[in-house]
Amino acid sequence: MNNRRDFLKTTLLAGASIGAGIPGPLIAGASARINSNARMKLRFRPYTLELKHVFTIATSSRTTTPVVLTEVEYNGMIGYGEASMPPYLGESHESATTFLSKVDLSRFENPFELESIMEYVDGLAPGNPAAKASVDIAIHDLLGKIMNQPWYNIWGYDKKLAPPTSFTIGIDKEDVVRQKTKEAAEFKILKVKLGRDTDRMMIETIRSVTDKPITADVNQGWKDRAAALEMLHWLKEKGVVMIEQPMPKEQIDNNAWLTERSPIPTFGDEAVQRLPDVKKAHGVYSGINIKLMKSTGMREAHKMMELARSLGMQVMLGCMTETSCAISAASHLSPMVDFADLDGALLISNDVYDGTKVIDGKVVLMERPGIGLKKL
Ligand code: MG
Repeated sequence: MNNRRDFLKTTLLAGASIGAGIPGPLIAGASARINSNARMKLRFRPYTLELKHVFTIATSSRTTTPVVLTEVEYNGMIGYGEASMPPYLGESHESATTFLSKVDLSRFENPFELESIMEYVDGLAPGNPAAKASVDIAIHDLLGKIMNQPWYNIWGYDKKLAPPTSFTIGIDKEDVVRQKTKEAAEFKILKVKLGRDTDRMMIETIRSVTDKPITADVNQGWKDRAAALEMLHWLKEKGVVMIEQPMPKEQIDNNAWLTERSPIPTFGDEAVQRLPDVKKAHGVYSGINIKLMKSTGMREAHKMMELARSLGMQVMLGCMTETSCAISAASHLSPMVDFADLDGALLISNDVYDGTKVIDGKVVLMERPGIGLKKL
């Protein structure tokens, strides 16, 4: 067994083609970039995103978002990653840098051993999903560069199937909502934040400007299930096509009751963080909202999507306010989702990367290896 493994390693390093089942050019290209003496090295720095507008949801308002930018260097190549940490989720510059200081990637000889590497990273401390994602994303970017392929190719997805992204309109005063709706002219679908006592005003105001489809996110803001059901029927009449996290995540029976009767699909967001939550969400919601900053990165997000689809659930891909790094990373999954909400990089004024773009409201992936970034 060991002999065979050594043989494979030697063959790979020599750049020879092995086995009919393995795509030759991919491996041959990679072999030149794998060096048994090289080790991965992680670097990170805190950064603060400036938001273009004050952002308000059912539970909070803010003008900045703390992020940590990571790089994993290996054999002369660099993969980029990011942790985005909206304060209400509990991570911070301090918690992320403390966590990342514990990560020692030099213990791994082979950067392709992602299962072992991320199991090690996950085991360093509980929680810290965004900090973990920043390592996962950087390694994915690195591996894509080693293979000289973008991740949508590695996963086997058709990038032309990437959906339109919604543009998010936060809870605000009527004139601001009207203005933001007008500014979102490029987008084919709008996402509106609900969950306060202004829900009808928010929808009516948007409808005074446009008849585009709307997705709605209640962020657990509804407390009474009968009133919630009545609102869902009203929203459907107004052209709302789905609802995110209608009631508090702990209220499993109420959310399931609502899903059973809802005229539009319901999506669990706050209720669904990581892989084991997908199974729990089955029967409670029609679909799940996957975000890299909850899932600990691309590896687990990909598994969550596959599991949800196998259970017959819908999938939505969401984001935080993030640079084009984390948005680009998520976008490689987007050809396979029902709804995409990847407007995070459009909401900030100090992006540091060029990557996946939104063109005429559609998610457009770059034909570049890894997650497809260029540093600005
Ligand atoms: Mg949400």
